[in-house]
Amino acid sequence: MDIEAFRKAGYQAVDAICDYYTKIREMPVNSTVEPGYLVKQLPDHAPEKGEEFAVIAKDFQEQIMPGITHWQHPSFFAFFPSITNFESILADMYATSVSNPGFNWNCSPACTELEMVVMDWAAKLFGLEKSFHGSSGAGGGIILGSASEACLTVAVAARERCLRVLTEDAVSLNGNHVNGKSEDSVQSNGISTGVDGARVKATQVVIPDDLRASSTPKMVMYGSTQTHSIGKKAAIILGMQFRALPTYRKDDYALRADVVRQTLEEDTENGLIPFMLIATVGTTNTGTIDHIADIGAVLKDFPTTYLHVDAAWAGVCLALPELRQTLQLDPINEYAHSFSTNFHKWGLVAFDATALWVRDRELLTSALDVTPAYLRTAQGDSGSVIDYRNWQLALGRRFRSLKVWFVLRSYGVEGYQKHLRGGLDMANVLEEMIQSSPDFELLVPKSLALLVFRYHPSDRQYSQTELNDLNRRLHASLASRGDIILTQTVLPAENGEEGTFCIRFSLGNARTEKQDVVQGWDLVVRLASQLKK
Ligand code: PLP
Repeated sequence: MDIEAFRKAGYQAVDAICDYYTKIREMPVNSTVEPGYLVKQLPDHAPEKGEEFAVIAKDFQEQIMPGITHWQHPSFFAFFPSITNFESILADMYATSVSNPGFNWNCSPACTELEMVVMDWAAKLFGLEKSFHGSSGAGGGIILGSASEACLTVAVAARERCLRVLTEDAVSLNGNHVNGKSEDSVQSNGISTGVDGARVKATQVVIPDDLRASSTPKMVMYGSTQTHSIGKKAAIILGMQFRALPTYRKDDYALRADVVRQTLEEDTENGLIPFMLIATVGTTNTGTIDHIADIGAVLKDFPTTYLHVDAAWAGVCLALPELRQTLQLDPINEYAHSFSTNFHKWGLVAFDATALWVRDRELLTSALDVTPAYLRTAQGDSGSVIDYRNWQLALGRRFRSLKVWFVLRSYGVEGYQKHLRGGLDMANVLEEMIQSSPDFELLVPKSLALLVFRYHPSDRQYSQTELNDLNRRLHASLASRGDIILTQTVLPAENGEEGTFCIRFSLGNARTEKQDVVQGWDLVVRLASQLKK
């Protein structure tokens, strides 16, 4: 495609996107295609000769779009919102136009420096204290692809931190000197260089190989039964154990500090080493906020344990000063080693853009800076720049800061807050309707823009099994339709009863209006009443 062909196809693509958003409200929200629908239509090999782009663009509309579920639809109430907007679309277009893997500062200085700037803007927007700011503290922020990636990344840092603490403990016991450099290093112009030309870190604490080998298998990561699968997955990848601590309905499924203390004490007595705990602000199931103040205070007694706060969905609401206490901003600022939230959920930036802040960036770089000769740069060696590859797992990275910059500038703090408050208002409307329906109950109090409910007819007593059956059928009948989409979940079993099947109604989408919430709820009520007929 040459420049003029791109110009034409580009204008046509923008027109098609505008048409899509003009009509989105009238479209079904759910894709109703059958598994394999696309595989059957497409050839099993790439075309031998290049095709006309007009044909490709037509096939996008005719073959791909039918298999798209419309997450931007006003009646998309499933999972959590995953909002895009025109600012994000334009930013992705510009970012792709200068496509580059931005791993070192000098790969494209603007990519790194814009990320530093917007992550400090966002840290201030969310009220994170100074040590999390790259410009004024020892920490800083990075934009990754997912909360899962953020969790795995900090877990690597947490493991190194834990080994460091164990090494320092061993030293204070037997007095060995641990400050030093790798033996194959030579000094040249103040830069430490290995025999293969690699940059050698001036490691503050050398972790003895035998301590690493003996300690690593004993390390345990903790979360709760409500922690997102990011925890278990990170632990599996690192070959660590993950322990999901129990949560209870009477606590609205929040992780309790006494449970943390008891478990960590028992595990430590049994020779295990707690190395990381994930606390959640806004769990996926119920939007619950863990007791971070109490948990953080307990972890002070377990110095090998790193605290990561996962606020993938709820974290962006820290932009609202009136919610900061509910969202435990002060304890996060006091205790968390790292904090992450997804701009790409409720936060108005198109997927993917997970914000991760660390209080001590050296924890990341000491774990992840591996610099062979071919990655060295004068600026990196001098320590005057950030090379974000040393803060993350992969080498290359997308230019995600551009869409965050476009969005924050275009909305401003006021527009950003207005958007969030819009979702909260919709949730108030729904809460009122659920609470005034005698045949429905909220399983936990509304959390921000998430309501978790079940059908519980008031005509007679129902067992948990009967209620689960009714609600499974209700959800199946909702799922079979194209005009609404809600997700289900199961809350933990207690007192010998089976777990509680329930339905999540998640609000916050930018296009959802009051009429959509009312229509959606009316539909739920109507389908539920048909179940007993
Ligand atoms: N943490 C929480 C609380 C979530 O709700 C989710 C996704 O819904 C995640 C983590 C995972 O996010 P990601 O897809 O960015 O890994």
